[in-house]
Amino acid sequence: MNTPLIDPFQRAIRYLRVSVTDRCDFRCVYCMSEQMTFLPKAELLTLEELDRMCSTFIRMGVEKLRITGGEPLVRRGILTFFNAMGRHLESGALKELTVTTNGSQLARFANDLAAAGVRRINVSLDTLDEEKFAAITRWGRLPQVLSGIDAAQKAGLRVKINAVALKGFNEDELFRLVEWCAERDMDLTFIEVMPMGDIGNENRLGQYWALSDLRARLAENYSLLDLAERTGGPARYVKLEETGQKIGFITPLTHNFCESCNRVRLTCTGELFMCLGQEDNADLRAPLRANPETDAPLEEAIRAAIARKPKGHDFDYTRQELGGQMSRHMSHTGG
Ligand code: SAM
Ligand code: SF4
Repeated sequence: MNTPLIDPFQRAIRYLRVSVTDRCDFRCVYCMSEQMTFLPKAELLTLEELDRMCSTFIRMGVEKLRITGGEPLVRRGILTFFNAMGRHLESGALKELTVTTNGSQLARFANDLAAAGVRRINVSLDTLDEEKFAAITRWGRLPQVLSGIDAAQKAGLRVKINAVALKGFNEDELFRLVEWCAERDMDLTFIEVMPMGDIGNENRLGQYWALSDLRARLAENYSLLDLAERTGGPARYVKLEETGQKIGFITPLTHNFCESCNRVRLTCTGELFMCLGQEDNADLRAPLRANPETDAPLEEAIRAAIARKPKGHDFDYTRQELGGQMSRHMSHTGG
């Protein structure tokens, strides 16, 4: 095992999330405005640069890689990258390669992802109602995503559904979503809306549905058993005793998860964010591009960045204004 990167609070950094594109074939209302401006292509790390970047992190002790975006599966040639990361799985340096996707391209890619060594994927799905799905994603279509999920399960991928909890939107689907996931043997995680990026005219506070409330409603129909399981991220899990199902809650706003945070995030332009809720970042593209022959300056830049990883985030809805509002979009940092 490689010696891990250790931050100033003695947290070992084992988990890298990589946004491989800021582009997306959907326009979810809580994530982007409909007239989203995307980055010029030259700003993006090439697939070769992504490989160098991730391989360097893996050499420095990262064991889990999650590929996200934007929509990672709309990046041209992305399978080349997944296949290339397969060599780190084979060597044992990388323990897990995963993807967070909106599911739209899964029918096309599920088998290839499985062949590349991906075993588990997260699919974001907030509603099972076709009309509501089209409304919340603006450009997405539910049947396409459902056949993507079918293809993923058929390919042997373990699927977890991520649903953003939205007040007045999917509150009435809570039990339907739980039951649907149980029928299909999929785990389910609810995410609280976070204040990320300009989303046009949507009212973020209006969208906010506290997961403490969601959990209390769940407890009306099921017995919830708190699980000790921690992933180093903001998720907490319960087991529904009646079905044996695992349900996750991602609550960065109502609970502080930072003390066990083991992750950093790389944007598609090569900025490293040491915390999802802080603006501080390090430009890793410059040392990478300036030194095609050696990774030493990149490694040095990574070490210097990790030495600045903050203790925690500043999100705060309690003052009933958008405290800690972040100017960048989730599609930039990759969620
Ligand atoms: N396009 C892929 C997808 O939707 O799964 C990957 C990128 S997306 C930015 C990653 C996750 O962030 C999705 O589950 C999405 O629902 C979530 N997300 C986006 N904007 C959010 C926000 N403002 N608050 C909370 N979650 C958000
Ligand atoms: Fe695209 Fe994912 Fe953002 Fe929706 S949440 S717009 S699918 S990046």
